[in-house]
Amino acid sequence: MSLKHQMARKEIIDTGLLISHLSLVIGSWGNISVRIPNEDLVAITPSGVDYEKIKSENIPIIDLEGNLIDGDMVPSIELPLHLEIYNNRPDVLAIIHTHSTYCTAMAIARKPIPASSDDLIQIVGGNVRVSEYRLPGTLELGIEAVKALKDRNAVILANHGLIAVAKDLKEAIKITHVCEKSAHTMLLSQLIGGPIELSDEDCHYLRDFYVNQYGQR
Ligand SMILES: [Zn+2]
Repeated sequence: MSLKHQMARKEIIDTGLLISHLSLVIGSWGNISVRIPNEDLVAITPSGVDYEKIKSENIPIIDLEGNLIDGDMVPSIELPLHLEIYNNRPDVLAIIHTHSTYCTAMAIARKPIPASSDDLIQIVGGNVRVSEYRLPGTLELGIEAVKALKDRNAVILANHGLIAVAKDLKEAIKITHVCEKSAHTMLLSQLIGGPIELSDEDCHYLRDFYVNQYGQR
């Protein structure tokens, strides 16, 4: 096993433990994947194993057509969803899928998370749309997710959960967390009149600022 494969597997284990600790996932629900740099391969969580129990050798390494290259367990049933995103979004290097509480509330109501707060717009690129309902584990779920992900880094899967996509798993964790907070605050704001959405122009400015100017450079 190459060092790159080992590092990708370690990142998946660390990410699983963190999102589990943050209560963004329960048991083995949800899944995590990452591209292996400069290879047409991804590492993805194995199917049905609690995040605390995943060992490095369990994590399947898969090519972009879905063939198992290495690992002693079968991949997450959402492999077709992850591969459909990687095959259509070359900018995406990492994916986290969760069934977190507030995002699932939005998912079952089939309501987008509005573009109402700076952090959400900066990190996602605008509102978080809801994709058309398709059964879990199907390619069709991936096709609909890709459509609703256009120009965004997150999408709500109808009656299911959230997908966050990013350049690395650290950013994907941040997106998952900010979406969950935004879904929560969106629901709270309904008690006091509901959220006010920002204009496309303001959204564009906020995203551009985050990508090109935010933080230490
Ligand atoms: Zn799911």
